[in-house]
Amino acid sequence: MSTFHGGSIVARMADTITVRSPYDDSIIGVVPVSTPEDVDRAVVAAAAALRDHPLPLWKRAEILDMAARRLGERLEEFATIIAKEAAKPIKTARAEAQRAVGTFQFAAAEARKLSGEMVPLDALSAGEGKLGFTLRVPIGVVGAIAPFNFPLNLVVHKVAPAIAAGCPVVLKPASQTPFSSITLAQMLIDECGLPEDYLHVVIGSGGTIGNAIVDHPGVALITFTGSPPVGWGIRARAPRKKVGLELGNNAPVIIEPSGDWKAAAAKIKVGGFSHAGQSCISTQRIYVHHTIAGAFTAELVAAVEQLVVGPPLDEATDVSALIAKSETERVSEWIAEARAGGATIATGGTVDDHGVLVPTVITGATADMKVCRLEVFGPVVTITAYDDVDEAMAMANDSEYGLQAAIFTSDIATALRAVHVLDYGGVLVNEVPTWRADQQPYGGVRDSGNTREGPAYSVREMTEIRMVVISG
Ligand code: NAP
Repeated sequence: MSTFHGGSIVARMADTITVRSPYDDSIIGVVPVSTPEDVDRAVVAAAAALRDHPLPLWKRAEILDMAARRLGERLEEFATIIAKEAAKPIKTARAEAQRAVGTFQFAAAEARKLSGEMVPLDALSAGEGKLGFTLRVPIGVVGAIAPFNFPLNLVVHKVAPAIAAGCPVVLKPASQTPFSSITLAQMLIDECGLPEDYLHVVIGSGGTIGNAIVDHPGVALITFTGSPPVGWGIRARAPRKKVGLELGNNAPVIIEPSGDWKAAAAKIKVGGFSHAGQSCISTQRIYVHHTIAGAFTAELVAAVEQLVVGPPLDEATDVSALIAKSETERVSEWIAEARAGGATIATGGTVDDHGVLVPTVITGATADMKVCRLEVFGPVVTITAYDDVDEAMAMANDSEYGLQAAIFTSDIATALRAVHVLDYGGVLVNEVPTWRADQQPYGGVRDSGNTREGPAYSVREMTEIRMVVISG
């Protein structure tokens, strides 16, 4: 076996990846590794499919509708795959699969209304007697590179808009999480009517297979979700391609005394620790007004200590292992650095008997510490007390990242000021920065990226405007 290619798995077992559980190291499965030649074959076949068999809008919508239906029917199967390969707690994995159903539905809606616009050519004397309008045509072959942390829904955020836009896709999932993508591709082709060659899954390392996609002249657009260094490296490597980047963050939330800080603590219990903090918008930096800092910290610590740490397939588990042991070591080192620098570990900071990092709350961390300055991508939040809200907003903005930020306040003037002052791709009021709807424009500023994802916005990126002029 080798690459999942055009609806079939082509035989070639020269090289394989053994995917192991991040929780207990048990073998989940073995996947064949693609070669750069496989990528070339996939891109050439995808380009031919677009040229020879363009998909009409009704067909795109029908495929996407069917995908939403079949995914809904196979939800438990997909959730189990996610839980196993990403060590995502099963109840969180179910929520991801359910969101992916919605992402397909929103993409189907976009396919049905995809259109251009009239251009009033006779507004210029030279255009008198001419009819002008635009079409939205597929941009070409889409190269999609996805991360491990939402191995289904973030892949659907690339594949579903591409189908709506009429574009074939060559998809590289993260090496740790290939099975969600392979199963999805099989479902789309075998059960939903997506023509073979409209979706190719290629497996292998970012350096080899990712770069083969990025470098291929037949790929028109790269849609990448992952870490900032890799993303901006791709941007620099492919200056003539359209490159959409969805990258990291160290999401801040401000909690004002007028805000419902108990509700904030309850939401952060989820938003800071879901999938062990391995979400690009995981709540990380908490700024609390000094008058409520003590009470809020006690409330949050008590809530976090209720989180159940355990195996991903256990129904009770809230927090499981990070994606790799090296990640557990890295985050543990960052916690140790904060402790050595004078911060207090209010709870957690240890690794349990199964090697899982226990949910951690840090107080008194300073802005220069890694747990504040960088993206932790682990089950860690920091709490910093502030005196006035301007200072809090300045601290929230003091970041290389800019994906989503939030504030809890019941004062409308403060809320309105925050949505203008907080320099982020998304600002949430009375909600954690971890909240996202799949139809919203989602993306960041600064190091966090250069685009907005969400079916309506991605379809625009994945189509070109073609101007049509008809002379009478
Ligand atoms: P990553 O290491 O950057 O990997 C992402 C993808 O890129 C994987 O498929 C990876 O392949 C591939 N890759 C690695 N090096 C490459 C290269 N030189 N050229 C081309 N592709 C390459 O990120 P991750 O650890 O999987 O994901 C975590 C990061 O993603 C975090 O920073 C998180 O904030 C970010 N993220 C952002 C969003 C968003 O929407 N803004 C959503 C989720 C995650 P391999 O797996 O084979 O290494």
